[in-house]
Amino acid sequence: MKLLTFAKTELHNLFSKPATRLYPQEPRVYPERTRGHVENDIDVCVFCGLCSKKCPTGAITVDRAAKSWSIKRFSCIQCGYCVASCPKKCLCMRPAYTQPASEKGTETFTQEPKDDQSA
Ligand code: SF4
Ligand code: SF4
Repeated sequence: MKLLTFAKTELHNLFSKPATRLYPQEPRVYPERTRGHVENDIDVCVFCGLCSKKCPTGAITVDRAAKSWSIKRFSCIQCGYCVASCPKKCLCMRPAYTQPASEKGTETFTQEPKDDQSA
């Protein structure tokens, strides 16, 4: 009886598609509502720091003087509080996960100085 069950499973596995994919060669297609990771349209950011204050894990750091916005990707839990609190709507959740890495780094985005329109 056990041999029959085994043969059935073996035949099923032989003629069905593999349950795994060839990551990373075969890109992942994410479901529609995947939260993925946070992205900032840095040109729109006003460095108010609200996202940083709302972040429950302290993953975001905002430096108003240096016009920089940083995120520790491995501290982020994809809760989306920062996105909901941003008054400029420059934050969003992109439906793709952070690439695997061997070290926990910080990603920093700096706003380029804007042209002075009054000159
Ligand atoms: S809340 Fe929005 S505008 Fe304010 S610092 Fe964060 S990303 Fe920038
Ligand atoms: S999604 Fe949540 S944990 Fe991640 S940076 Fe935004 S507030 Fe912090």
